Amino acid sequence: MARHNYPESVDFHAVGVSSDSDLNPFRIVQRQVDEAAEVLKLDPAIHELLRWPLREFHASLPVRMDDGTTRVYQGFRVQYNDARGPSKGGIRFHPDETIDDVRALAAWMTWKCALVDIPLGGGKGGIICDPRTMSQGELERLSRAYIRQIGHNIGLDRDVPAPDVNTNAQIMAWMVDEFAFMHGYNEFGVITGKPLALGGSLGREDATGRGLMLTVREAAKKLNVDLKGARMIVQGFGNVGSWAAILLQELGCKLVGVADVSGAWSNPDGIDALALQAHVKEKGVIQGFASAGKPVDKEAVLELPCEILVPAALHNQIRKDNVARIKPRILAEGANGPTTPDADPVLYQNGVYVIPDFLCNAGGVTVSYFEMVQNAYNFYWDLPTVHDRLEQKMAAAFDSVHEMAQTYKVHNRLAAYLVAIHRVAEAMRLRGWA
Ligand code: NAD
Repeated sequence: MARHNYPESVDFHAVGVSSDSDLNPFRIVQRQVDEAAEVLKLDPAIHELLRWPLREFHASLPVRMDDGTTRVYQGFRVQYNDARGPSKGGIRFHPDETIDDVRALAAWMTWKCALVDIPLGGGKGGIICDPRTMSQGELERLSRAYIRQIGHNIGLDRDVPAPDVNTNAQIMAWMVDEFAFMHGYNEFGVITGKPLALGGSLGREDATGRGLMLTVREAAKKLNVDLKGARMIVQGFGNVGSWAAILLQELGCKLVGVADVSGAWSNPDGIDALALQAHVKEKGVIQGFASAGKPVDKEAVLELPCEILVPAALHNQIRKDNVARIKPRILAEGANGPTTPDADPVLYQNGVYVIPDFLCNAGGVTVSYFEMVQNAYNFYWDLPTVHDRLEQKMAAAFDSVHEMAQTYKVHNRLAAYLVAIHRVAEAMRLRGWA
């Protein structure tokens, strides 16, 4: 019998699961779980538990604005499944954030931690806000307000947040400081992605992009794709996209198309990823970078010819309506959920080698885990140690997915689900949850 099941009377529509939308990311998660459960022949109670978060927190966050008024923001924290260890997952600040986005992202964190075989569960947080319109002081007060609300439900052994879209090391520092005030002692390991001076790990900033690069390198080996001169297109040029582009460029790839919130550009001669990152760090967006090339339609940039396509912005970018025109050799999903389920089979039929999101972007959480380990020991590793250990984890995870796909003759995403869900289900079974 399931111990943590929701009572049947709970109306999930009332708490934000919008009904029939094919693009609702949480519905997508549930369909993916159902598909894996069928192949793995999961116990029905384990299957049902995996379809829902174990617990979630909703909070109203009053923030004193610079003009003296008070605004109330809505924040969430979802602890999806902690059978394999404390929940782990980032916090996003976004005006379009929804509880279903957070649930879906928390589920993907669960599979991701299991896939890279680190002893953590999955969680995620979000605040509905538009950080571009907020001052540093307002952002600090919002970050502290969030921790005041959820600070008793997180911790090194419970749930460990980290940065995600529109949050960064400074925001993590404010949060860890607020947590220390609340509890009366420093516990740096409660949050990862912190600045180095506050217990951050070397190698965290570029970890997700580095992990992505490592999986592309492994895929290229399997497929005999020469990365020297390989054309790449990157959508989203923030933390993940910019580091992925820089590190793939170091392997010889040529950045021929980029997009971000400010527009899209293509340049067949190649765009210098390092110079573009410096520009974006200074100006906030790609717009205004002189050698980005000619402007192109933001949607159409994904359809330009290339060997490597890296969606590293938002979810639902590759859909039924545009997938037939998207034909890279390797699709490296830096973002979470960039491909909708109905687009997946078309990619597969067209011979696109998909590195699914929760494998491709697992480098960040892997180095976050390294950060927690270093915090626990209060002893810090050098950069080559971080890089070596990350490489081992990513290569092992890539191989487990590739082998599962070959063995069961399924596409990579389902193979990744099979590896991850099998591991989570096994932990739940051993704990006696069903
Ligand atoms: P970020 O805020 O640093 O960058 C996001 C980028 O996406 C920006 O360049 C922004 O301009 C662009 N963008 C936003 N809306 C867009 C639109 N409509 N069209 C095109 N571009 C748009 O965020 P990030 O940390 O790089 O995260 C990007 C994705 O990677 C997210 O899906 C996130 O969940 C995922 N991810 C991040 C990490 C991490 O360690 N940062 C780890 C795993 C997964």
